[in-house]
Amino acid sequence: MEIEIATIGGYEEVGRNMTAVRVGDDIVVFDMGLNLSQVLIHDDVRTEQMHSLDLIDMGAIPDDRVMSELEGDVKAIVPTHGHLDHIGAIGKLAHRYDAPVVGSPFTIELVRQEIEDESKFDVDNDLIKMEAGETMDIGDEVEMEFVHVTHSIVGAVSPVLHTPEGAVVYGLDKRIDHDPVLEDPFDMERFRELGDEGVLAYIEDCTNAGRKGRTPSESVARKHLHDTLKSFEDYTGGIVATTFSSHVSRVSSLVEFAKEIGRKPILLGRSMEKYTNTARDLGYPIPDDLEIYGHRRSRERAFKRIMNEGKGNFLPVVTGHQGEPRAMLTRMARGETPFQFDDGDKVVFSARVIPEPTNEGQRYAAERLLKMQGARIYDEIHVSGHLREEGHYQMLDAIRPDNVIPSHQSLGGYAPYVDLAESQGYTVGEDLHISRNGNVIQLTE
Ligand SMILES: [Zn+2]
Repeated sequence: MEIEIATIGGYEEVGRNMTAVRVGDDIVVFDMGLNLSQVLIHDDVRTEQMHSLDLIDMGAIPDDRVMSELEGDVKAIVPTHGHLDHIGAIGKLAHRYDAPVVGSPFTIELVRQEIEDESKFDVDNDLIKMEAGETMDIGDEVEMEFVHVTHSIVGAVSPVLHTPEGAVVYGLDKRIDHDPVLEDPFDMERFRELGDEGVLAYIEDCTNAGRKGRTPSESVARKHLHDTLKSFEDYTGGIVATTFSSHVSRVSSLVEFAKEIGRKPILLGRSMEKYTNTARDLGYPIPDDLEIYGHRRSRERAFKRIMNEGKGNFLPVVTGHQGEPRAMLTRMARGETPFQFDDGDKVVFSARVIPEPTNEGQRYAAERLLKMQGARIYDEIHVSGHLREEGHYQMLDAIRPDNVIPSHQSLGGYAPYVDLAESQGYTVGEDLHISRNGNVIQLTE
């Protein structure tokens, strides 16, 4: 049976992921993501109103024209998790395929919101929720399974296509976390079983392949956060925290520890509201009485209340960990909100600066503005959501794939992964396939 893999997006950059697998006449598309940094370098771009081809030209969404080279029907569009570099192009591309979008419940809720925000195209693909551990028929001879993985957002899965030629495992994005927060540990046992059953191809998340050692568990970041906030227990001034609003586990730890040091947590910012309310609606343990303000007026009121009742009674958790110019923390730093910093106030960044010039510059500016007002910065209280070197070795040991296809990096970023895969007996051009956006790899004939 003929199996081909089209590497459509995310094979020349970190961002705009999209891969299609054709098994006979059936095609499954994994991820349809946005490369946000290609959007941010332009001033005032409103992607909601833009046409797909213009966004393709900008390098913001995957160039899916290569799909016409695959002879078959798309049976499903499968986002692995709710990060924008995996779902952010669904509003622009999914309507061109007569296929449902299938994802975990949390991912599908976020996809639904993406589609609602889309104003250029009518996207009416069915949205199907499937839990990790469940399977679905794709045509007559292929079955798709979701394996539970751990990442920096809840509800992440690795989809597996069971084909007559062996399994195709799509492995973006994950870290091996045995002690995560709010969800089950990484399902290593299932990956080992897949290895025993036979894996034809493995598409791997190489985001952090160049970093040595092992990615720590979310429980390590949680402990670090706890230690930091506990050290503020006797401080009576202002404490502000920022993190990825999509990182529900981290936000939930912040909420818990704020209460532990006698402060009322208040979440501020539109995306904080979006992700946290979505998680609460789906039954994740977010307290019912947690105050969350997304809209401008309600945020202003909350800030005024914090200043009137005393900053020492509250812990605002805000957007802006990368110094994004329009995010809450940056606007607080510029004095555009009623919140005023005093000498010695604490600002906790539960995030790492994404190593990219735009982010680095913006984050530098935000920190300078905060420091000029006397704020103290607590940086990098964070662990990454991506495998490092040792995690990659573990995955190759567990699933022993016949073919490996590194993804989610630039050509230069693949180099460390190629080294480690070669040390495990793989050969570039034979069973280790370095691809570019727009290529089709023929696996079986
Ligand atoms: Zn991700």
